[in-house]
Amino acid sequence: MKNAVIFDLDNTLYDQEEFIISAAKEISNFLKKKYGVASYKLLMEIFNSKTPMYPHTFDDLVKKLGLKVNIDKLVKIFHSHKGRMKMYKNTKPVLKKLRKYFTLYLVTDGNVAMQRNKVKILGLEDFFDKIIYARKYGESYEKPSNKLYRNLVKNENIDIKKSFFVADNPHIDFIKIKELGIKTIRIRRGIYRRFFLDESHEADYCVEDIQDCVKHILIKNF
Ligand SMILES: [Mg+2]
Repeated sequence: MKNAVIFDLDNTLYDQEEFIISAAKEISNFLKKKYGVASYKLLMEIFNSKTPMYPHTFDDLVKKLGLKVNIDKLVKIFHSHKGRMKMYKNTKPVLKKLRKYFTLYLVTDGNVAMQRNKVKILGLEDFFDKIIYARKYGESYEKPSNKLYRNLVKNENIDIKKSFFVADNPHIDFIKIKELGIKTIRIRRGIYRRFFLDESHEADYCVEDIQDCVKHILIKNF
């Protein structure tokens, strides 16, 4: 059986805010050129107040700008955005170290093309044994559902008692995945770092960065 560490992508390995700022700039440049309106501040206000989990960001934006624009174009720019991004400090050496003892999986929700771009820009292919885009199987496989993880454990012959799931967002990341019996670690970074929810939503361990995460994983196993 395999000992595995399953990582989430957004805010766990890099700061999603960086990506959003960069994408918002591209979108507001487009709206400026095409309609002569300034929209960057407003767009960032929506992203910040509603979080990126909110599904009507662009509907709200065009409504507030008073524009009769089909939002499909804006969604397309967002999903195909290729901004500058980098992994959090220490992430690469930590992943390399963990890979000596564990099979590493990266599982990410969201638009497949957009998440693929991020993986490519961050150069993550070389650090993981398998990268899985949940939406390829349908939105019902995305978190908070644990369906994909249940299948992964079974298909990859993962020893759940000696494996870990590492993510950042207490709203959706842990509540259902904990039911599988895998140990969960929350890295308090990125957009959701300030949120603390009830115990059922929180991970078994909460750490400040990926280096602290290793201590839990390696000490508990060896
Ligand atoms: Mg995340």
